[in-house]
Amino acid sequence: MQVKKDIIELMVIEKNTDLRLFSTMRLGGKAKYSARIENKNDLIRAVNFAKENNLPIICVGKGSNIIWRDEGFNGLLIINEIKGIRFEDNGDHVLASSGSGEIWDDLVTKSVELNLSGIESLALIPGTTGATPVQNVGAYGQEVSDTISEIEMFDLQNGQFVTIKTEDCDFGYRTSRFKKQDKNRFIIINVNFKLSKDYPNLPLYPAVQNYLDDNDIKVISPSVVRNAVIAIRSAKLPDPAEVANNGSFFSNPVIDESDFIEIQKKYEDIVYWQTSDGKYKLSAAWLIDKAGFSNFEDEETGMATWPTQSLVIVNRSANSTKSLLNFRDKIFSKVESLFGIKLEQEPELLP
Ligand SMILES: Cc1cc2nc3c(=O)[nH]c(=O)nc-3n(C[C@H](O)[C@H](O)[C@H](O)COP(=O)(O)OP(=O)(O)OC[C@H]3O[C@@H](n4cnc5c(N)ncnc54)[C@H](O)[C@@H]3O)c2cc1C
Repeated sequence: MQVKKDIIELMVIEKNTDLRLFSTMRLGGKAKYSARIENKNDLIRAVNFAKENNLPIICVGKGSNIIWRDEGFNGLLIINEIKGIRFEDNGDHVLASSGSGEIWDDLVTKSVELNLSGIESLALIPGTTGATPVQNVGAYGQEVSDTISEIEMFDLQNGQFVTIKTEDCDFGYRTSRFKKQDKNRFIIINVNFKLSKDYPNLPLYPAVQNYLDDNDIKVISPSVVRNAVIAIRSAKLPDPAEVANNGSFFSNPVIDESDFIEIQKKYEDIVYWQTSDGKYKLSAAWLIDKAGFSNFEDEETGMATWPTQSLVIVNRSANSTKSLLNFRDKIFSKVESLFGIKLEQEPELLP
């Protein structure tokens, strides 16, 4: 019989880890091995273990943007728990330095408590600080790329620790080099944010400003904005600690003007935004509602759309990723047959 855990010096390598614990959708198979890392030494030991056993590596935070395949992962799952938050006053701004395994919302809360602005609109986004650069996390008019100054990481390609500046991250809308050309190359261990001592930049994102107007709030501080964002998000989105979900499951499709005109002829009430490069971004939630999936409970798969936000798929009673993908495909194909538009999935299907 095999022993369940191998101790490599101080770090524990676990076998047959249940991947459902590392996806907020709570689905998926098992990882062959996993290791929790709390510092650079743990990281080196884990990487060496993977090398010696010829295993691929995937590093995760809280799994809020991940779906695991039912087949599982035949490699080493690195679970990032590198902690430590430090603030350093640099005169006209404050540098917030965060271990990548810190809970992102804790960093937002601490920054706002110090009356600093720059990340207050990103309150309540689930997951760890180290995952935020990967998809350039954003909400309510802010993105982490606006404030990130430096990222310290381990390069799996050459076994070195490196520090890079924000301009080297190739940040874009919900993307970065960590998601594209350098996917799985780096393990992020620390992120620095340059936060402002001034009050939040105006104008605020319309939904936040509307909330403040509705509640007759006139003085705008980081904490006022954070509280508004928390109220808006809580009313709209399920808490992954209570309801299994990955947040927005679909991204808003962007199409050319000629295609947009054709669709608008048929659907005058289509919800869209014009982009700066002359394209049209359509509301995926509107497309999904129109396709008949508003507040939809699918008995066959055990999946559903969230009553107040159709972009969010929730797992009511499914016990396989196959069921989730089956439900996703029903939405994909109905939207495509009605509008000729292929929706894209936001959370990453791994491995
Ligand atoms: C209810 C809900 C609401 C959400 N709202 C938003 C939102 O408003 N805006 C938004 O942008 N996102 C949103 N998300 C998505 C999610 O919260 C973010 O993508 C978050 O940054 C994921 O953090 P995590 O620690 O859970 O990362 P994970 O899901 O564990 O990992 C995500 C990706 O990052 C990689 N990764 C994680 N840690 C590291 C590391 N240390 N080094 C290298 N790679 C790493 C993983 O391999 C994976 O590719 C939401 C999700 C949920 C469930």
